[in-house]
Amino acid sequence: MTESIQHDVIIIGSGLAGLRAAIAAAAYGKNNISIGVFSKVQVMRSHSVCAEGGTAAVLFEDEGDNQESHIYDTIKGSDFLADQNVAEKLARSIPHEIYQLDHWGMPWSRREDGRIGQRKFGGYSFPRATFAQDKVGFYAMQTLYDTCQKYDNINFYNEWFCTSILKENNLFRGVTAIEMKNGNFVKIKSPAGIICTGGAGRIYSFSTYSYSSTPDGIDMAYRAGLAMKDMEFVQFHPTGILPSGILITEGARGEGGYLINNENERFMKKYAPEKIELAPRDVVSRSMIREIQEGRGFKHESGYDCLKLDLTHLGDEKIKERLAGIREIGLKFSGVDIINEPIEIRPVCHYMMGGIHTDVDGKTELGGLWAAGEAACNSLHGANRLGANSTSECIVWGKITGEQAAQFALDKKGTSTMDISNDQVLSEEKRIFDGIFRGRGEINPYEVRKELTDTMDDRAYVFRTEDDLISGLKKIRELKNTTWKHVDDQSKEYNTNFINVMEIDAMLRTAEVVLMGAINRKESRGAHSRIDYPKRDDANFLKHTLAYYNSEKEPKLSWHPIIFTRYAPVERKY
Ligand SMILES: Cc1cc2nc3c(=O)[nH]c(=O)nc-3n(C[C@H](O)[C@H](O)[C@H](O)COP(=O)(O)OP(=O)(O)OC[C@H]3O[C@@H](n4cnc5c(N)ncnc54)[C@H](O)[C@@H]3O)c2cc1C
Repeated sequence: MTESIQHDVIIIGSGLAGLRAAIAAAAYGKNNISIGVFSKVQVMRSHSVCAEGGTAAVLFEDEGDNQESHIYDTIKGSDFLADQNVAEKLARSIPHEIYQLDHWGMPWSRREDGRIGQRKFGGYSFPRATFAQDKVGFYAMQTLYDTCQKYDNINFYNEWFCTSILKENNLFRGVTAIEMKNGNFVKIKSPAGIICTGGAGRIYSFSTYSYSSTPDGIDMAYRAGLAMKDMEFVQFHPTGILPSGILITEGARGEGGYLINNENERFMKKYAPEKIELAPRDVVSRSMIREIQEGRGFKHESGYDCLKLDLTHLGDEKIKERLAGIREIGLKFSGVDIINEPIEIRPVCHYMMGGIHTDVDGKTELGGLWAAGEAACNSLHGANRLGANSTSECIVWGKITGEQAAQFALDKKGTSTMDISNDQVLSEEKRIFDGIFRGRGEINPYEVRKELTDTMDDRAYVFRTEDDLISGLKKIRELKNTTWKHVDDQSKEYNTNFINVMEIDAMLRTAEVVLMGAINRKESRGAHSRIDYPKRDDANFLKHTLAYYNSEKEPKLSWHPIIFTRYAPVERKY
């Protein structure tokens, strides 16, 4: 029989969004509510730990920065697809959160005068990325995890893999999960939930993401009838090293690094005369691919075409003080010491602007369920995210959703019967144990995963065409229909083979949504750049894409309006 656990608020995911939400819920609900945080990895293995360059916030209004400018930079960066009330909420809320983290012990890098330091980042009108050397994610995660320890009502469930959402009368009721250490299938009951399962960038092979960054959380919501929004917008960061794809932070250019071609030219001057290397990522990545296509790239020994990032003029001291993490990455994974020589880099899958459709407060279409962080699409980033705005988003919406979920749980206390019909649990058990664990087939699921991610690299990269996208979609559907759904390892304890196959299942559905959204959007906006439709088309496409699950048939696509407040779309120039 299925075991069961109950909490007042459950949080799926223990990255920056999940931890911030847990603290907010615990502080808000005091000891009247209990909180469960479920994570398929150990807390400190969440991808947030890898964040490098900074967290955007306006801190120096006395030196000329202002929140209006943060709002506008975010909206312009988004190519006018962001919901403008959401950008406003971020800019107004994050400064307080930076100081809150400081008070909790975050070791922010500081200026000579003792104030918190900020560095330049792409697409901003002011140095606005608050940083902690080049390991902002690691330090922020540690600070939040430490802070969680102060609350007795936060319970961590590490290495639990959530598989589906339970609901009744359009209200959230909990989730099902596998406790990985013993393989038990468990029903987790809760009136309120927050999905904080992060980004899905492992649907690409060349990717900066941790291997755990697969779309199972987003897919769980999708299968429960909630929309995935704007999934065609995938960010390619200009500087992934070869061949691994590990990130060199934009902070390297923020500190003064140059991008150079094989003529030793700082080519970005041609494409973004004002911002040069610090134009937004979509602009820089496109410029890099153009340089390569026109024969001014380098050939890496792996066979990849690439360009170089030159930091040698920054000097030994600055690099060791402010960019120590990426120096280590260069040494260990490229065999290059960035103090002495330029490093080979190439645009790499780095961020999903899309995710679970939510409103400005992170509320989903299902009563009692919120989503925050990279798994959510509250439409902050629109068609292109500015660097450093994501950790900010996680912290701001972690807090908002944590408090709202706690309030919801308090309101429900004593009134709701938490009964859930067992049918949903049984049908999920059948889906994953009969359909996957005891499945049969000839095709190796890891080969399917590799073909899937290679297809995304080839067919839905920086520049896209109808033909490529359609052939990519055809390939994904072919893969979906092969007999790959089976698990060789039949053990119960720590069966990572089983978990991986469930991840692949979610990856196939999500890749299909990305490709269909990209085919459907016949324009170029932000990170979605169509060679066959090179212009932004506000008359027809100034709107969000929604995709709804339609059993195993193709997803149902529809459009959703953007919220405008004060800023009319104009041409983006940098
Ligand atoms: C290399 C790198 C560097 C970056 N640098 C920066 C930066 O400097 N500044 C910036 O603003 N942004 C940066 N970003 C982006 C930013 O770090 C992420 O968007 C953000 O940290 C995501 O946090 P999250 O809380 O949404 O999820 P994550 O930190 O990705 O955590 C996801 C959580 O969900 C859990 N989970 C997932 N699926 C399941 C499941 N099925 N069951 C149970 N648990 C599940 C995981 O275990 C994990 O705990 C960077 C990203 C990368 C990849």
